[in-house]
Amino acid sequence: MTHHPGLVVTGASGRMGQMLIRMVSENDKVRLVGAVERKGHPWIGQDVGTAMGGAALGVTVTDEAVDAFAKAQGVLDFTAPEATLEFAALAAQARAVHVIGTTGMTDEQIAALEPAARHAVIVRAGNMSLGVNLLAQLTRKIAEALDEDYDVEIVEAHHHHKVDAPSGTALMFGEAAAAGRGVALRDVADRGRDGITGARQKGHIGFSAIRGGDIVGEHDVMFLAPGERIILRHIATDRSVFARGALKAAIWGQGRAPGLYSMADVLGL
Ligand code: NAP
Repeated sequence: MTHHPGLVVTGASGRMGQMLIRMVSENDKVRLVGAVERKGHPWIGQDVGTAMGGAALGVTVTDEAVDAFAKAQGVLDFTAPEATLEFAALAAQARAVHVIGTTGMTDEQIAALEPAARHAVIVRAGNMSLGVNLLAQLTRKIAEALDEDYDVEIVEAHHHHKVDAPSGTALMFGEAAAAGRGVALRDVADRGRDGITGARQKGHIGFSAIRGGDIVGEHDVMFLAPGERIILRHIATDRSVFARGALKAAIWGQGRAPGLYSMADVLGL
């Protein structure tokens, strides 16, 4: 069924969850067929539109992900790493495209998605916006062109509810810069400097995180050399850019061969 795929939103009451519910229900290329929340959540059993304080959408919030996924062609999942791992197995059973926006997953958790990706399409990205994915390509190109005289520093800022640092987006930029230099990010990442750290090591990629207020997401990728600085900046002012990317990924994934894809694949970058 490639036309008007039915989509389920997990973590329906979350900041991204509510944005996704709104965008799926307003988009005529997809249908909202389910809204999942965790057991015991006050929204369970209520219409998701009503629970959000708007008009009813004809979809009741459930904690039975298996049943919800069985009716769906896609699952939009911006929740938490442990939840996402469970959803991956269930989405694969249902052969639904699993769009993962959840960040803060460890390398082991990402590797644990592989069995699911053998049976179904998974699209995972630390940031689903077109602008960030374009900037990641640019970061890679610039890192390729410049030598290690240019120190790479990534500074990010997010709202005070965010639980992981550095952000998934900052890590995407870090991966892009490392790939451009032909090194593994884990070998060169400087995270959370504090105290007498010693001088900055040449070739390292530094991360800094600001947390406060209602910042949706801001990232600077800096290339700092004696005599000049290059700064790439992305500012998200509205979560709809992430939701739009997630919808695009769910539609793109319909009928594709099973596998683990990125947003760069979806956008053809
Ligand atoms: P949030 O407001 O805290 O929402 C998370 C939602 O997931 C909540 O509704 C939470 O329910 C639910 N949840 C957590 N564990 C669950 C479980 N085991 N089963 C079912 N539901 C569960 O956070 P957010 O700001 O929307 O962000 C969510 C995730 O998306 C984060 O990892 C964030 O970094 C990421 N994100 C990614 C992008 C991107 O473009 N890739 C963009 C923005 C955000 P409770 O309230 O009951 O805990």
